[in-house]
Amino acid sequence: MPELPEVESVRVGVHEWTAGTTITGAEVIDPRILGTTSQRRIDASAAEEFVAAVTGRRIIGAERRGKFMWLTLGEDPGVGQSAEPAAPELSLLVHLGMSGQLRVHNANDSIHKHTRAIFRLERGSAGSETDGESLQLRFVDQRIFGHLGVQPLVHAYGRLVPASANHIAADPLEPAFEPGLALEQLSRKRTVVKSALLDQSLVSGIGNIYADEALFRAGIHPLAIPARTRKSRLAAVLDSAARVMSDALAVGGTSFDALYVNVNGESGYFDRALLVYGRGGQECVRCGTEIEKMTIGGRGSHFCPNCQNAPRYR
Ligand SMILES: [Zn+2]
Repeated sequence: MPELPEVESVRVGVHEWTAGTTITGAEVIDPRILGTTSQRRIDASAAEEFVAAVTGRRIIGAERRGKFMWLTLGEDPGVGQSAEPAAPELSLLVHLGMSGQLRVHNANDSIHKHTRAIFRLERGSAGSETDGESLQLRFVDQRIFGHLGVQPLVHAYGRLVPASANHIAADPLEPAFEPGLALEQLSRKRTVVKSALLDQSLVSGIGNIYADEALFRAGIHPLAIPARTRKSRLAAVLDSAARVMSDALAVGGTSFDALYVNVNGESGYFDRALLVYGRGGQECVRCGTEIEKMTIGGRGSHFCPNCQNAPRYR
């Protein structure tokens, strides 16, 4: 699955190309993309409703919270009113899943065989100086693990988000994130810290890879219980999580100078500087001890038994 830095790189690219455009039409080539992993049977009317909901709307911007991405849509201000900012009304959810890609194309580019939906975009109104720029935002997904959907916007954790994201807490890289609140909630948890970090209702956006990296950097064992760990050490874990994710973004080196956004979370696109994740059996970069791997809550967890002391409770 793409982690936060990958999703953010897609968001930035999509925002650059689509913010301020109007969706003049849409086509759902494979209605299964409107379903979810557990429900892929979609009747024809759902596809029609989806197209009707997005057509004629102005894309205000691409937004993200944790690994959750969406386009905020507003009413199209109409001819001659394009300078007026539209009020956010609706969200177009884009869940990339395992193999989803968002691509920006010229309208006459050939269509990739795994294209599941197409949004026709136009910048500026007819007769204006910017007339003539017709783009297409295409959702390509070979294995159909991704999802597209339209949802109302609701207020949650300090900003407007799609309704189904209302339980997702702010992520450490967004302005609405309150470090004090997250620390307070984390410090009350009696589950193991590795699982607490993956709890999206506590802090969002920390996936398996960055949880392991954050715990290693902070010197905390993945089985430590937050409620029995000093707050300053928990604060260090949250700081480390924010830092490893922003570092990953910085080295991502994504450039969107071509008219083509083609980012796939599983492509190894990011040159992640990982110190512990995926290094089971190898030497610790700090002390040379063999990195261990164990399964916690069904997820592979990597840690140095020397740098991250096992908790001694009871
Ligand atoms: Zn070590």
